[in-house]
Amino acid sequence: MQQSYDRPRQRMVQEQLINRGIASPRVVEAMLQVHRHLFAGDAFLTHAYQDKSLPIGEGQTISQPYIVAKMTELLNLKGHEKVLEIGTGCGYQTAVLSMLCKRVYSIERIESLHTLARLNLRKGRHTNVMLKCGDGLQGWEEYAPFDAIIVTAGGFASDLWLEQLKDDGLLLLPEGEGKSHRLVRRQKRQDTVIEEYFDDCTFVPLLSGVS
Ligand code: SAH
Repeated sequence: MQQSYDRPRQRMVQEQLINRGIASPRVVEAMLQVHRHLFAGDAFLTHAYQDKSLPIGEGQTISQPYIVAKMTELLNLKGHEKVLEIGTGCGYQTAVLSMLCKRVYSIERIESLHTLARLNLRKGRHTNVMLKCGDGLQGWEEYAPFDAIIVTAGGFASDLWLEQLKDDGLLLLPEGEGKSHRLVRRQKRQDTVIEEYFDDCTFVPLLSGVS
């Protein structure tokens, strides 16, 4: 018999998200709707709703639920947006975004994870998603400009990302060296960029090229 993970998911949303300040009703609803255990892989089913990041193979991880929710909230999505994600991983963050915007374009540099994400997103019936295996540092020129770009690996921004944003668009990334990152949100405004810093965090590294 298939186990229901509804209760652990509701508890995760209340204790890890709402109690820690995630206030957007749309983000809370999306985090309730997306079945994180479908993305976590069989070995980690029982850990899927815990307050931690989880391994997804190839030395990569899904971020802890709070960070996924926080990054999603910082994008202020209304529903009409085209969003570019760098670092598809297993597709969990992609799935959450897909509930909140018009279309998600997501790039992953590791072929096996790109394939895993495709399967996971199909299982969850997330159809407004386009995936590509490639180097996200190049952005995705073909579908630019984007309303928002979210990067789920830690490092420093590629200049192409701001170029591929619409005016008023948002770029969100965990910025910094090694394992010490801080969420930064940049808004492109004609000739200037408005920059705001948020939580400290640790992400797997943003790397160039395809593997
Ligand atoms: N959002 C993902 C998190 C995955 S971890 C999830 O919910 O599962 C970050 C991912 O970024 C890893 O899979 C890593 O391979 C990928 N990555 C790192 N550098 C990249 C780059 N330049 N282009 C595309 N993907 C990259």
